[in-house]
Amino acid sequence: MAKKVPAQVNLTLYGKPLELKFAVPADKVTPLGVLPALQQIDNQFVDTAVEAFVDRARPISCRAGCGACCRQVVPLAEFEAYHIAAVVERLPEPRRSAVKQRFADGCAQLDRIGWLAQLQQQLEQGTTHDAVQSHALDYFRQNIACPFLEDESCSIHPERPLACREYLVTSPAEHCREPAPDTVEHIELKFQVSRLVRKLWHTGHVTQPDSVPMIYALQWVKTHPNQFPKKRGPEWMQEFFAYLGKP
Ligand code: SF4
Repeated sequence: MAKKVPAQVNLTLYGKPLELKFAVPADKVTPLGVLPALQQIDNQFVDTAVEAFVDRARPISCRAGCGACCRQVVPLAEFEAYHIAAVVERLPEPRRSAVKQRFADGCAQLDRIGWLAQLQQQLEQGTTHDAVQSHALDYFRQNIACPFLEDESCSIHPERPLACREYLVTSPAEHCREPAPDTVEHIELKFQVSRLVRKLWHTGHVTQPDSVPMIYALQWVKTHPNQFPKKRGPEWMQEFFAYLGKP
């Protein structure tokens, strides 16, 4: 088993001390090797935000069995695309083949309306925030359930993407079925690990957009082999926390 190095970082978040304890590989790895630590840190950031901002009058609406948000585009950091592909490969048959088919069907449906090509064109031409939002709504209107959604619950909950961990709302669940910026009330996070690592770590594979839409992850990894440099786990995490501390 790969040797791990324990680490501890103390922060102040929402006026309260937060102690982060995690372990990362001692050997040289791509950012994929520190993903478990990032997932753990993201969970702690989200839990701290919930403690700080959620009260009885406005509880979190998200719960198992409500997969309304799991029909939205999920932006993956480049290295998370390799993680999702590996998660699928570890599934037992016949589930693995069924999940792969859902990914393929979702991509085919989006390709029929030229969704990905339009997004790339918009971003290359310098788009507005509103245009990206509108494009995300086009995805949602296709009603493509996430390939991991089973009985409206996430079947890969411990392995789910960073962006999924950060999506929590206090507005009624029905608003997530027709999402709009003025009806869906998100828990606003001071630190969104998903966004930070998308900006911090990518290769020449990913420029515009800065993420891989999860539904395209399996297709994407086949044509984009992992080109990340390898560094020791503590070096990756030093970069991450230096970036986190930037104004
Ligand atoms: S990975 Fe899980 S939480 Fe994320 S969209 Fe899919 S089913 Fe929902």
